[in-house]
Amino acid sequence: MEMFDVAIVGGGPAGSVCAALCATAGLRTVLIEREKFPREKVCGDCLNPECWPILRRLAIDQRVRESPHATLASVAFIGLHDRCMEIELPQGEDAEITIKRSVFDALLLDRARQLGAEIRETSTLISLEKANDDWKLTIADAFACRAQVLVAADGRNSTVARLCGLLPRIGKERVALQAHIPLPRDFGNKVVLQLLPGGYSGQAPVSESELNLCLVGKPKSIRTLQRWATERFALSAGQQWRTITPLTRAAVPPARGNLLFAGDAARVVEPFTGEGIFYALRSGELAATAATRIVQENSPDAGAEYAAEHTAMYRGRLWINALARSGVVSPKLGSILLDFASFQPALLRFLTRKIVR
Ligand SMILES: Cc1cc2nc3c(=O)[nH]c(=O)nc-3n(C[C@H](O)[C@H](O)[C@H](O)COP(=O)(O)OP(=O)(O)OC[C@H]3O[C@@H](n4cnc5c(N)ncnc54)[C@H](O)[C@@H]3O)c2cc1C
Repeated sequence: MEMFDVAIVGGGPAGSVCAALCATAGLRTVLIEREKFPREKVCGDCLNPECWPILRRLAIDQRVRESPHATLASVAFIGLHDRCMEIELPQGEDAEITIKRSVFDALLLDRARQLGAEIRETSTLISLEKANDDWKLTIADAFACRAQVLVAADGRNSTVARLCGLLPRIGKERVALQAHIPLPRDFGNKVVLQLLPGGYSGQAPVSESELNLCLVGKPKSIRTLQRWATERFALSAGQQWRTITPLTRAAVPPARGNLLFAGDAARVVEPFTGEGIFYALRSGELAATAATRIVQENSPDAGAEYAAEHTAMYRGRLWINALARSGVVSPKLGSILLDFASFQPALLRFLTRKIVR
């Protein structure tokens, strides 16, 4: 059975960055991904400006800029009674952009492959065993391998966390729907975050011809939200939607010996603030450093240090995410906050700049 230094489960932003950097550090690296890329996924497709330094470190920032994308000039918040407040976003080289996940994630996965990681697509992890101190992974297509370090980058419903009995129980949860639809004329270069009875919608152009449309709500409201979107954007009855749940769950401890969690597998944030990809990229980088130290230095502290850096990454940011979550879980409260902000626009500008910086 083939032996690797590190096995990474999941080829989203967290897994690909981790694989790229582990391979660069000289580790024998395998990445296991259940889908065949390019693939879409439920996401608002917005890249927080803080992603740019990471993309530069990976030397793929130019590839991202050359791919179809849209640059966002502003964010428009719309309340239940159609009160709209528009806040300008920072411009320049590190502006916030939107890019389809089929494009962005494939660029990252290709970069990991180019740097020497072995990429196994259409391979679903189905079982895990600890043998001596190594991990034995079994994949649905009958491939099996062993690895000294295991990185779970397999998203919010992490199979690794489930197989290790670490996946938190999920209460009554919300559902998200997403589609790419024709871009309405005169939509403009803005992201729209709109509170609606029973949930919210995010809308942003992703190219010259397509709009990313997301709907988030409780299961009992999601059909109403879908009807609203069908009418608002004149969608056909056959419109295809992607779906995902949960939107909220407890965090998983990011390190347990030679098992590391990165991206959504470790912590899920409210998508309203559009930061999940940044956390995935950054935690992928940090996990790669920890994996390298475990393999090359046999460091007993690498896991604990990763956990500390992982916690620090969220410090001072989670309160805004929690505030946004209260406003969208209860759109009436969200609208009241928006009404208040219309008298204090500096406050909304301050909160937006804390996230988009
Ligand atoms: C409605 C919505 C809108 C959002 N909008 C934004 C936004 O605009 N901007 C932003 O920054 N973030 C946004 N997010 C969050 C963002 O999508 C995630 O934070 C991000 O995708 C996390 O990346 P990841 O690499 O951790 O996981 P993922 O991107 O989920 O990747 C996990 C990968 O693991 C693979 N996988 C899963 N199980 C297995 C298995 N058993 N075996 C092998 N492979 C497996 C999956 O196929 C997948 O490719 C949004 C989320 C939602 C729900």
